[in-house]
Amino acid sequence: MSEYAFLLTLALFLYLLECAVWVPADSYAFRLFPSRRSPARLISNVHVDAGPSVKFSFPLSLRGGISICAPIPFAISPLGIALSRPPSSNKKLISVEHISGVFIPYEEIHSLTHSQKTLLINELSVATNSETQALYLEGLLGRLRKCRPQNRPAEIERALAAQMNISHVLSRLKHYRKETTGVALGSAAFMIAIFCVSPPLVWKWGITAVWPLIVGILILCAAGIAGEFYSAHISLFPDAREKRWTSIAMILLSPPSALHASKFLARDLLIRFHPVAVAAAEGPKENFRKLISWMLRDLTFGLHQTVDMDRQVAEAINWHRGQVRRLLTDLAKELGEDPTSLVAPPPAESPRVRTYCPRCWSQYVLADGFCSDCEGVELASYESSPRSSNRAPAQTNSAES
Ligand SMILES: [Zn+2]
Repeated sequence: MSEYAFLLTLALFLYLLECAVWVPADSYAFRLFPSRRSPARLISNVHVDAGPSVKFSFPLSLRGGISICAPIPFAISPLGIALSRPPSSNKKLISVEHISGVFIPYEEIHSLTHSQKTLLINELSVATNSETQALYLEGLLGRLRKCRPQNRPAEIERALAAQMNISHVLSRLKHYRKETTGVALGSAAFMIAIFCVSPPLVWKWGITAVWPLIVGILILCAAGIAGEFYSAHISLFPDAREKRWTSIAMILLSPPSALHASKFLARDLLIRFHPVAVAAAEGPKENFRKLISWMLRDLTFGLHQTVDMDRQVAEAINWHRGQVRRLLTDLAKELGEDPTSLVAPPPAESPRVRTYCPRCWSQYVLADGFCSDCEGVELASYESSPRSSNRAPAQTNSAES
């Protein structure tokens, strides 16, 4: 019995590990709940140049999970796409000129496909965040490649606006909650079988006598979860075949994965959407305000970061950022926010503060200079702009120097 108790403890530990989700750099994680009464909630901190992190879903929320909104790995313009840095994979194919960025005109895209989460554009392998995102980008680039040049700006605008469509986000969340019911019931049955049914059986008759019965019950539960998962995945991600079968293999081979199978559905659920749209769809308005404020400041004051890049790359990035900024400004107005106040100076933290960074809102006692966190961003003076006492989203980076 003591060996079996050890196995159960190990299973519990592995299950808790299954609740962890890796969040890539510059991505935003949202915690999903089974009911509309518990809205999806932003759990990533809004940082300057946020690095990767690990987030946890609630262990007892079998229909919950962590969903990730990840940025697309290149900028899109009417002339082509621009990668600001060389793709991380396939480095041997990257030549010296790629150091200042890579620009690919649509007319020069001869082959476009994907392999798992890698998008293959001509000879370049571009790492995306998931097979779902790779599929989405393959479809988008395919449409832009076929589009007449004069129609491309409108097509790109449609694609970017779709990423910010709040009603589509709500409908996607509703779809998820409906499709995960069967998977969650299967996981609950599996949990009861492991932690409630098997210990008394082992205690009464011994592991040698009952292990075939326990293994049979577990196989039955895992097969049931895999079946429910298959139909939910095909409904939510009809084209992501490779990811579907990889996840099913995990569910069948790893009991901790079967206990938390909904995590495989949650992760990429919202990857096609802009994080601001997800924050606006559900959850506290303060999260939405904090996120859109940061994004507008970054898009407004962070353009300097293209100064060392190839001209075409810089133009494409600036065009893309300009479009996103315009759409975010429209979204803010639509939701009753004043875009000007969202990027207004933060309230000064002390009378000694004389300048602030307009991008990250760090405050300084210096009379002038550049922000230590945002390369190349010149500090703005409080003397030339009124010291704001307005409501302002909380900002974590407030180092004084
Ligand atoms: Zn800054």
